[in-house]
Amino acid sequence: MNVLLKNCRVLDVNSGLVTEADVDVKNGDIQTIAKNITAEKSQRLIDLQGIYLLPGLISCHTHLTIVFPFNLSDPNEDPAISALRAYRRGQDALHAGVTTVRTVGELNRADLALRKAYSYGWVTGPRIFSAGLGVSVSGGHGHGFTAEADGVDDFRKKCRLDLLAGANHIKIFLTGGIAHKDETFSESQMCDDEIEATVQVARSKGTYVCAHVGDSEPIMRGVRAGVRCFEHTYNLDSAAANAIKKENGFIVPTLGVTRSKDWMNSRGFEGWTICKAVSAGGDHLESIKTAVKAGVTLVNGTDIPPGDTDDGASIVVREMEHCLAAGLTPLEVIQTATINAAKLINSDCLGEIKVGSKADFICVASNPLENISHLRNICFVMQNGLVVRDDRE
Ligand SMILES: [Zn+2]
Repeated sequence: MNVLLKNCRVLDVNSGLVTEADVDVKNGDIQTIAKNITAEKSQRLIDLQGIYLLPGLISCHTHLTIVFPFNLSDPNEDPAISALRAYRRGQDALHAGVTTVRTVGELNRADLALRKAYSYGWVTGPRIFSAGLGVSVSGGHGHGFTAEADGVDDFRKKCRLDLLAGANHIKIFLTGGIAHKDETFSESQMCDDEIEATVQVARSKGTYVCAHVGDSEPIMRGVRAGVRCFEHTYNLDSAAANAIKKENGFIVPTLGVTRSKDWMNSRGFEGWTICKAVSAGGDHLESIKTAVKAGVTLVNGTDIPPGDTDDGASIVVREMEHCLAAGLTPLEVIQTATINAAKLINSDCLGEIKVGSKADFICVASNPLENISHLRNICFVMQNGLVVRDDRE
C-alpha cells in the first residue's frame, strides 16, 4: 500500500487546474503531492508517464442487489444470493473506476454484509455508504426490496432499524416511478407527517434523508419536511429547483434511467417499462436543465449498475455525458462524481486529490476537460492505494 505514482498530470477537481507532480501514497492515503519525489526502498514505483490522474469516481444512486427486470425480484431471496450479486456488481463498478458508491435500498441489506466482508479483509469492492433496506409505504414504489411502513410510528421504527443495522442515511420514496405499471410520478405516496418523522429520525443520528421523487409538488413537500437529497426529479419546475437550492439540497438526476433503451432491452425489460422510461426522457432532461439554471448541486448516480455498459461506455460515464447535455461544463460534470458526491455523503477524504485524502484514483490518457468522453478510456484504477486495474499501453 506504499506506492509512489510518478509523472502524473494531477487534475484539481475544484479549480480545473492540471499540475505535473508525483503522488506519494502511504497506508492507502495521499501523503505528499510534489515534483521529483524520490521513492523509498520498500516503496512500489509506478511511472504514469504523464497521463491524467483524477479522484476515483463516487456513484450516489446505486442498487447492488435489485434484480432486472424488476418483476423478477424476490423479496424472500436467499440473503447469500443477494450478497453474491452485490459482490459481483461491486467488482464491475470498481473496474469501471467507481471507488465509492452510495446505495439507496438493498435486498436483505446485502450491502452491509458486503461492507462487513471488506472489514474482515475477505474481499474488495467500492466503499459503501448505505441506506440499508430503504423504507416505502405498503405496496409503494420500492415494494419488493424495501421495508414497508405506514404511519409515523412505523416509519420511525423502520428508519431506526436501518440505522441500527449500519445505514449511513435514510432512503424513502415520495412518489411512484417507472418500475410499476400502475403508478405515476405525481402520485404522493407518503403523508407529510411520515416524511417529517423520517427526517427527524435521520437528524437525531446526525444524518439525512434522500427521496425517490417524480414531480415538483411532492418535491416541494419533501423540501418543506427537510429532505436533503432528491433522486430522479423527472418533472422539476423552476420553483421546486429554487426551493432545493435555497435549502442547499442536492439532486441525483439519474438521467440514464430514461435514456438507456438498449440496456433495458438487453436485460429483458417488458415493452411497457421501456416505453414509460423513454417517453419520460424529454421532460427529465428539461428538469435537469432547470436544476442547472437554478444552481442546484448535482451528484452522479445511475440506478442502473454503474459498471454495466451502454453505448460502448460504462453507465457511470454515460451519466456524465448525459449531464453535459443538461448544460454542465466538463469540469462541473466531473464534480458531480467527485467533490459534489463527497459533500453529499459528508466525507472530507474522498472526491479530490489532496494530502490526507484516500488514494482512490482513475487515469486517462487525454484531458477529460477537453472532452468528457475521454473518460470512456479509463486505463488505470487505484483504490485505497491498491491497483485495481492497469491496462495502460
Ligand atoms: Zn433507485
